[in-house]
Amino acid sequence: MKMNPEELLQADRDYIWHPYSAIESDQPIFPVASAEGVRLKLVDGRELIDGMASWWCVLHGYNHPEMNRAIEVQIKQMSHVMFGGLTHAPAVELAKKLVELTPEPLKKVFFSDSGSISVEVAMKMAIQYWHAKGQPEKQRFLAFRSGYHGDTFQAMSVCDPVNGMHTLFTGVLARQHFVDSPTCRFGEPCSDQDIRQFEQKLEAEQGNIAAVILEPIVQNAGGMHFYSAEYLCRVRQLCDQYDVLLILDEIATGFGRTGRLFGCEHAEISPDIMCVGKALTGGYLTLAATLTTQQVSETISSGDPGLFMHGPTFMANPLACAVSLASIRLLMESPWQQRVSHIEQQLQQGLEPCRALPQVADVRILGAIGVVELVAPVNMKTIQPQFVERGVWIRPFGKMIYLMPAYVMEDTDLQALTDAIYQVVQGL
Ligand SMILES: *Cc1c(COP(=O)(O)O)cnc(C)c1O
Repeated sequence: MKMNPEELLQADRDYIWHPYSAIESDQPIFPVASAEGVRLKLVDGRELIDGMASWWCVLHGYNHPEMNRAIEVQIKQMSHVMFGGLTHAPAVELAKKLVELTPEPLKKVFFSDSGSISVEVAMKMAIQYWHAKGQPEKQRFLAFRSGYHGDTFQAMSVCDPVNGMHTLFTGVLARQHFVDSPTCRFGEPCSDQDIRQFEQKLEAEQGNIAAVILEPIVQNAGGMHFYSAEYLCRVRQLCDQYDVLLILDEIATGFGRTGRLFGCEHAEISPDIMCVGKALTGGYLTLAATLTTQQVSETISSGDPGLFMHGPTFMANPLACAVSLASIRLLMESPWQQRVSHIEQQLQQGLEPCRALPQVADVRILGAIGVVELVAPVNMKTIQPQFVERGVWIRPFGKMIYLMPAYVMEDTDLQALTDAIYQVVQGL
């Protein structure tokens, strides 16, 4: 029995919990019937140009024939098999591809089912590494204010302590070390003063720190800050100097979003452990991976208990691996650098005028990311319908109104998105 749109919305209200929301929310919610290219089609027939890429995952558009085909072919072979004691071509080929694309020392791949879990896995790897090296006291992490690494407990423990609501979970969350987010902006140099707080903390606490964890170049859900590549470079040097591992969370920055394939390439550094997720499957299915070096993987395996202690039920799901391979192939065969830099120029032109508005505190553009930071937090209940009325899907958070379009978006669609932002912000 098919529900009409009103019944659907009522049943949604009756039964479903949406992300970061109350169970009986007064926030508007919009039922989607289908999606094609860069457009979401609502059940009432309206079409919205999608500026969010479904939380930064969709690179080539929705309902892409080649990605659909990759899943159709795979589903006829097998949708899933357990990964304990078994393996399959989609996982092997994807792991090989990820090792090829990521910086040189990353050689080993652990698949998991979401970004947060890939962060859990990364943190576990770091702890097991030091355990195997006979330094089990190195089990805490040094993280950054305004960072975001996911919603599970260990990932939450390294998120911004205020946004991450640490007070709500005091006594439950692992206590980590924090430093201020980098103040030197992207494109600027990093002075000794800029890195001092980080260096002092690392020096003082190195004996109990397993790893530094941060998002390279862009702090995403924690505030959309773009920071200096030189800062990241110095973080790498200091991690080596103080014998601490470096975990880079490339879940949002990976696969070209910042104009380089991975964020760390801006600084020409590589981490000891890297997390990828989000755009890995081009937005089709949930899959993430944690990559590490030969050295870390061998150390863990030579220690006690000689095994890496993790193994999700849906590890390396073949459908997800197959569609990831298709997405990566499409990306690498496309002129993605030109597309991203063209989007960057267009975002610059379209959003820069917002800077003159009194409601706006800052406008920041990097690669295919455009951010308008407001002076005051938005009212989601009123702002969301205003975007929908203008035929666009833009979902702000806090003071941030941002765009992260699919790389295949046409100029006119991107223009419609930036125009909508200008108009809505002007009317606030
Ligand atoms: C989204 C995100 C995560 C969490 O990924 P999920 O798939 O939502 O668990 C972790 N780190 C960063 C940088 C992210 O953007």
